[in-house]
Amino acid sequence: MTRSVAVVGAGIAGPAAVLALAKAGLRVHWIAPRPDPDHDPIGETLAPAANPILFRLGLSDMIERSSHRRSHTTLSAWGSPQLIDRNAILHLEGPGLVLDRRRFEADLRSAAAAVSNPVSDARLADARADGGVWHLTTEAGETFTADALVDASGRNAVVARHHAERRRTDRLAAAHAFLTQHDNTVEPTPAVLIEAVADGWWYAALRPDGTLSVAYFCDPDLMAETPSRDIAVWKHLISGTRYIGRWIDDAGFAVDAPPRMSSAGTTWMTPPAGRVGGAPWMAVGDSAAAFDPLSSHGMTTALWAAEQSGTVIPAALECGNRDEALGAYAGSVLDGVQRFLEQRRQMYAMERRFAESGFWRRRHTAQAEHSVTA
Ligand SMILES: Cc1cc2nc3c(=O)[nH]c(=O)nc-3n(C[C@H](O)[C@H](O)[C@H](O)COP(=O)(O)OP(=O)(O)OC[C@H]3O[C@@H](n4cnc5c(N)ncnc54)[C@H](O)[C@@H]3O)c2cc1C
Repeated sequence: MTRSVAVVGAGIAGPAAVLALAKAGLRVHWIAPRPDPDHDPIGETLAPAANPILFRLGLSDMIERSSHRRSHTTLSAWGSPQLIDRNAILHLEGPGLVLDRRRFEADLRSAAAAVSNPVSDARLADARADGGVWHLTTEAGETFTADALVDASGRNAVVARHHAERRRTDRLAAAHAFLTQHDNTVEPTPAVLIEAVADGWWYAALRPDGTLSVAYFCDPDLMAETPSRDIAVWKHLISGTRYIGRWIDDAGFAVDAPPRMSSAGTTWMTPPAGRVGGAPWMAVGDSAAAFDPLSSHGMTTALWAAEQSGTVIPAALECGNRDEALGAYAGSVLDGVQRFLEQRRQMYAMERRFAESGFWRRRHTAQAEHSVTA
């Protein structure tokens, strides 16, 4: 009898897990909330390490067909006021893609819908397991069962949070906005720009559609005023930068609305996989581990974990109650978190100009606590 698995989430990890699990021969129920019509996710830099995973998932053509752009230039003012091409340091694997992320996610969802039984427009409300079976209920009251469950619900971790402990190193947040040009006689530079400032750091990337993605990463508890409530605060923050503000002004981008705020801190679940009532579960993507976006590898890790589900879940179903595959996956995720924390420590240690400010002091002194902070 074909075994079944429920996948929860329709961001990056969810549809990729659907593809991997369907390829492994499982029947997939996909609980896929429809994105808001104005859904425009921030985060467009895709590391080159994603390419082999996309190839194995059969998605390389999808990337080639779309209007994503090669990212050849990443400039940063980090550790020094000079603007330097830092590709080799901040992106250890060299240049990648700047995605049309809305298009990327829509293409992933179409590919996944073609190989699954999508429970469209649905959000998971409840998941319980007994006797080796998951019993799932959507917010609309629809119920169904599955032999295994993959939680790809992002930082919400709607299932994993009930069966694992969440750890975190910080409460980094991003104030972000997409700016359009009011003066399109100027050709904006096709680049990614990173700039450290006294109370955080900035990221800006020219998207393939010509809009500018701008994000300010900060600790909200250290901020006197929240920019999402007041455009004047947002403009004031931009004007305090040396390069980001100049790029916005020189290319004629309009700052005409306050930014949205998102969580961007480093958090992870321990363990990120296991069994409940004899039925296996695993968290993939941000649900398992979400990273400070300085390294730009959140999407790549989400794709990696989703691909893993295609071997881990079948192995967990075949082995009865033996948990080697789930345990090995959990170990890989937690090793990856430790490697990331060391990389993050090195990146923040490179910036010493603002060592007295609260934001940088936290990152220079709290690193040793990372593996135990709940
Ligand atoms: C400001 C910022 C900038 C970033 N920049 C980059 C970047 O440049 N490059 C990069 O690689 N990464 C970046 N990231 C990280 C990257 O966006 C994430 O790692 C990636 O989105 C994780 O994908 P995911 O599928 O795990 O989660 P998500 O993309 O968050 O998707 C979660 C899905 O779960 C669904 N869901 C939630 N609750 C339920 C429920 N109850 N029932 C059913 N479904 C549910 C949601 O609707 C959504 O479809 C950035 C992150 C931030 C915050």
